[in-house]
Amino acid sequence: MKIKNRSKPLPLRKLDVIIPRLSSQFPRFTEIKEDAKRQGRGYSGEMKVDYYLESLASRYTLLDDVYLHINGKNFQIDSLVVANHAIFIVDAKHYMGTITFDPILKQLIRNDGNIESGFEYPITQVENQKFHLHNWLLKHKLAHIPIYYFIAVADPSTIIKVDGNREEISKVVAHASRVPGMIMEKDQELAQAGKAKIQDYKVGKMILRECGVYDMNIMKQYGITCGELLPGVFCPECGMRGMKRIHGGWICKNCRQKSHNAHLKDIYGYVLLNGSITNTECMWFLGLTSRSTATRILQKSDLIYLKKYKYWVKNPKTC
Ligand SMILES: [Zn+2]
Repeated sequence: MKIKNRSKPLPLRKLDVIIPRLSSQFPRFTEIKEDAKRQGRGYSGEMKVDYYLESLASRYTLLDDVYLHINGKNFQIDSLVVANHAIFIVDAKHYMGTITFDPILKQLIRNDGNIESGFEYPITQVENQKFHLHNWLLKHKLAHIPIYYFIAVADPSTIIKVDGNREEISKVVAHASRVPGMIMEKDQELAQAGKAKIQDYKVGKMILRECGVYDMNIMKQYGITCGELLPGVFCPECGMRGMKRIHGGWICKNCRQKSHNAHLKDIYGYVLLNGSITNTECMWFLGLTSRSTATRILQKSDLIYLKKYKYWVKNPKTC
């Protein structure tokens, strides 16, 4: 069964809030947009791989997006399959065109039809994850569990090439649709070799309990200050920023669409970026002129008010 599901990574959710509110004149605007695109591609690749791994949920314990801490370091694994005799790390790779594994120089070359680019060698990356996971298991007295890994190429149209020993690479790299079969085969092989059976659900639960959430201060990373974000409520119909407040709701100056709660997404976005929102910040961010309207809006939202600090934060139970 799957005991941990994937959700959109927090850094990517933050970029989704920032980008539409950033002036195209912002010095690092292009870089930010490129980073968001790359992260979005990674996320959609992981979801494609999830689709195939799902078929293992009836026999093994599955966890998406595992983020653990060991020896002062955090490490992240796209998907973890706790099978009957081993743990399998599945690393999703989403590349378009042709990818070439060079096992001698340990590099990955992607050719999208026009440009050739180099990437960090996926096998080195996943070997590192295996190393950290082994240490983690050691700390939790589970070091007897063998760890294997697979690199799942998310898109079936990606052409995989090898500049060297193809057979060696083909043992750990495959299109995502083949990975569940490879995991089952390896697990059965271990059973036949007389390896001890592990309590997959119990081990999975132990990992789940220790899982953190990967986050990043995106504003700081790109040197964005709050004042550089363009304020205003986005129209849910046409996407234009700067809806006008009318009695009990909003109206779009562009398409005349009316909405009662178009502002909610915006205030939750603000809290996602900054951790909290004050009444004054809310007035500025939504383009309100009335303090009492801002208060009413915040009171009706799912946020909770911390009297001591005079600001609103997200309610962990609801948003
Ligand atoms: Zn509109």
